[in-house]
Amino acid sequence: MSQDDIAKATHILKQTVPLMMQHKVAATPPNYALWYTYVEQSNPDLNSSLDSIVKEKKPCTPSTNETLYKQYIAGTQETSFDELKRNLELMVAELSSTMNTTLLDSSDFSQKIDTSFAQLERVENEGLSMDQVMDTVRLLVKESKSIRHSTSFFTSQLNNATSEIAKLKQQLQEVQKDALFDALSGLYNRRAFDKDIQMLCASGDAFSLVLLDLDHFKKLNDDYSHLLGDAVIRAVANRLKAVSREGISAYRYGGEEFALIVPDKDLRIARHYAETARRSIEKIAVKDKQSGRSVSSITASFGVAEIDEKESALSLIGRADKLLYEAKQLGRNRVMPL
Ligand code: GH3
Ligand code: MG
Ligand code: MG
Repeated sequence: MSQDDIAKATHILKQTVPLMMQHKVAATPPNYALWYTYVEQSNPDLNSSLDSIVKEKKPCTPSTNETLYKQYIAGTQETSFDELKRNLELMVAELSSTMNTTLLDSSDFSQKIDTSFAQLERVENEGLSMDQVMDTVRLLVKESKSIRHSTSFFTSQLNNATSEIAKLKQQLQEVQKDALFDALSGLYNRRAFDKDIQMLCASGDAFSLVLLDLDHFKKLNDDYSHLLGDAVIRAVANRLKAVSREGISAYRYGGEEFALIVPDKDLRIARHYAETARRSIEKIAVKDKQSGRSVSSITASFGVAEIDEKESALSLIGRADKLLYEAKQLGRNRVMPL
């Protein structure tokens, strides 16, 4: 990393931090990496994905950040954190070696030394006065002091960087622990749901919530097996992923309960998405390997609610859940409200 690179990086970071604050993005290492890349404009696909959010000055949910990070920055899900860690370590190593060499062959330093030596030569060649010799010596002392000063400046910079990186590593470990994904379904998990919905409620932006619960799932587990039940959960998750366009996020809310957060859309449109999901789930057919039978009577019941002004997440979830219950009461495999 050259001095120019560091200056450029600082420049980009100065724009990145306020932008992240504006979009209520948490200060985690992956988020820094994501938004830094956005400001740097080095990945056009990432920029077009984030442009609409940035243009409309909307909050960017934790799940959106994480998804974009994984899609554009980390490459693959599994290796991202390891890679990030390795990069940080490389950065420290590089930084420290750069600082050493920068000091040694700083052209500024050599030039000053050369001038001073040239002055000293003149003492011999031209027989300068004592005063002039002293001036030259003083100049040398002054220069060496300023060099020493900059050395300690760099050392303290390096120490700062090292402790900064230790902090980042610690945060990375926490990020890893707090993964936002559900292993069975590959959807966002309950934790991600809680984070995202809290954040959206706090933002004051319009959005709708769809809750769904698979019908008679206990019986399905009993009639076939828990293993088949798991396969059905995965199949449902895939259908929900397919329905999730236009910024919709799909979550595994609980065992066989799921949620869709539909940003920016009113009840009518969210209902439409729920209806699409309902019909798509109806078409699922999973083959039971043990019995060879095909299971195709999979259905779900839905409750949809649009956030009211200043409503809490808890109240919104309560309303959607109540509607889901009504859908069950009315015979299942339907979306409420009508
Ligand atoms: P209802 O139509 O009223 O929702 O009936 P239900 O049988 O689905 O009732 P309920 O929602 O209360 O039961 C959920 C069942 O889902 C209970 C549990 O055995 C099963 N379940 C929860 N999580 C999993 C899972 O991860 N895998 C499998 N195979 N089954 C699960
Ligand atoms: Mg249930
Ligand atoms: Mg159920």
